[in-house]
Amino acid sequence: MTPTPTEKVEPTDAELLEAARGGDRRALEALIARHQPRIFRFGMRMCGDPEDAKDVLQDTLVAVTRTWNDFRGESSVSTWLYSIARSFCLKRRRKEKQAADRVETLEHQGGDSFVHAAAERQPDQLVRDGELRTALQDALLALDEKQREVFVLRDVEGLSARDVADSLGISVEAVKSRLHRARVAVRNRLAPIFFGDESQVPASRPGCPDVLTMYSQNEEQEISADLCAEMERHLEACESCRAACDSMKATLHLCRTSPVPEVPPEIQAQVRSALRALVPSPLGPSSTD
Ligand SMILES: [Zn+2]
Repeated sequence: MTPTPTEKVEPTDAELLEAARGGDRRALEALIARHQPRIFRFGMRMCGDPEDAKDVLQDTLVAVTRTWNDFRGESSVSTWLYSIARSFCLKRRRKEKQAADRVETLEHQGGDSFVHAAAERQPDQLVRDGELRTALQDALLALDEKQREVFVLRDVEGLSARDVADSLGISVEAVKSRLHRARVAVRNRLAPIFFGDESQVPASRPGCPDVLTMYSQNEEQEISADLCAEMERHLEACESCRAACDSMKATLHLCRTSPVPEVPPEIQAQVRSALRALVPSPLGPSSTD
């Protein structure tokens, strides 16, 4: 009986790796095809530039075709891939930063170039969602690099805090503390759009707790039941903290629903040919195309 597509069970990453180790190059191709759109998105969020993201994706996938056989499966495949992609992002950013510093010195430009870029846009030509997504990207790029990678992996790519820690080689505690700061910073950059403009952003009143950080801590199950109940009571009574929490929630929702981009066909083709050149097919003609 031929299974209908809905009955077909996709092989797991581990099964694909095992098949690849047995000489099935198509299994490796399938594994890469499965993960590449999200690696591309990660590169887009980290670099902010589609061309850079393409380079990062290509470098990552080509590195994978060279090193996959050394991968021992101590972490998940996606954790491993993100850690490779991240190292290429960092290299690229470092090079760009050096170039940008030179331009900055030459032109005596003050301020944040992303803020300038945002100011040049005409918001009334953009639908709100598009505006928010653009602002989100600006907010990500304005983050300190260490906060950015934690935030993107946790809140855009949806890795667990443990997997983020493994990808970056840092402790879970470090992940969480960077994450809380990053979330508050991103929410603060988006708040004027959520509330119409800067003057409408609710200010916390004297004596209000740091509800944005607490909201983030609560997402990571770091808040005790007692503290959580106390926070709920405060939110019930305090309109501005409630609005602030709602905007934090909306910020995280925006991140978690970030679209997965299509991988440019030229990169897919380059990676396929790199695979064919680097990974022999010992099973003979049946495993080649
Ligand atoms: Zn309050």
